[in-house]
Amino acid sequence: MLFFQFRSIKKQMMFILRHQFFRRSIFAIAFFSVVAMTLVSCRPRAEPFQVTFALDTICIIMLYDQARPEIYENIFARIHEIESRMSLFRPDSDISRINASAGIAPVWVHDDVFKVIERAVYMAEFSGGAFDPTIGPLTSLWGVGRDDARIPSQEEIDAVLPLVNWRNIEFDREQSTIFLKQPGMALDLGAIAKGYAADEAADIIRRARLRRGLVDLGGNVVTHGVKRDRTPWRVGLQNPVGERGTFLGIISGWDMTVVTSGVSERYFMHDGQRYHHLFSPFDGLPARTGILSATIVGSVSMDADALSTAIFVLGYERGRALVESLEGIEAIFVFEDMSVRTTGGVDFILTDENFRLLTD
Ligand code: ADP
Ligand code: MG
Repeated sequence: MLFFQFRSIKKQMMFILRHQFFRRSIFAIAFFSVVAMTLVSCRPRAEPFQVTFALDTICIIMLYDQARPEIYENIFARIHEIESRMSLFRPDSDISRINASAGIAPVWVHDDVFKVIERAVYMAEFSGGAFDPTIGPLTSLWGVGRDDARIPSQEEIDAVLPLVNWRNIEFDREQSTIFLKQPGMALDLGAIAKGYAADEAADIIRRARLRRGLVDLGGNVVTHGVKRDRTPWRVGLQNPVGERGTFLGIISGWDMTVVTSGVSERYFMHDGQRYHHLFSPFDGLPARTGILSATIVGSVSMDADALSTAIFVLGYERGRALVESLEGIEAIFVFEDMSVRTTGGVDFILTDENFRLLTD
């Protein structure tokens, strides 16, 4: 249950962490809150973990009884390195440099950036364009999550939509360069970079030969190894209409990644309507498919991250078909009518009786 407590603390911290001023003190607050929670839950001892802020979210690494400071340091250094290369908000990141040179010139990028863009293009093609890493012009037009978020006019949407097209990314593997062919195009790896970073963090834990570890980068969860009590890992599924940190069910398993895309992460309200941050590249609007959240359970977090966004945008029928075409990948859909559906191979228990689990 500790993990559940972590999640709610994490959500409360999100707001405060957005303000630079509080970032340092928050680690102390987080530490003491979690220790207090642990004591309340009568656990014999606090589980070692560390928290940092990166990739625009809270990153929690739990190494339990095998924590060594240098492993945490290596993991956080790697996460910050990925952020420094892939962030849209850093003008010197590889992604910002690619975007600034759209329609002008190819840009040299680090190997990992090349690899993630290549995988993103694979996922774009695989999802029939529902996931598209060139969504940048659309996300910046709407600004969901920013203070100046607004509903753009149809003309504005029509003007940027042709720029959203993964086919116009040009790769040169020899030179390790990426070129966006049209001026005004922009990459946005917001739906895949956290997954990649979670894989990299888990890889460091694996290479250090630790028996167990848990990575949670803003809801991109990866479990590694076997818990001390040898029971399966239990990951809470966020209730997309509940308070942050409340769960509607539990996913159990071993060595799994769990990634959710949902309407509650980032949105603004206008005239009683919710405008969230998951866009349909087909019409340029926040995707409305009757889904509140789509979760992927798999083994590679980078793929699960892209896929969760893809199936959210595709909707239930096409999203489910996409997932079922893949070996070892499962999905959980939560709908606006409070029903929940899962694919066949996931170990999921519904815990919130306000929802209905449909088995069809
Ligand atoms: P979160 O970042 O909340 O975990 P996601 O992984 O689904 O959720 O990523 C959402 C982000 O991905 C958006 O904030 C935006 O930057 C980007 N995005 C939105 N729609 C798409 C899309 N159709 N394809 C690719 N990226 C998208
Ligand atoms: Mg995603």
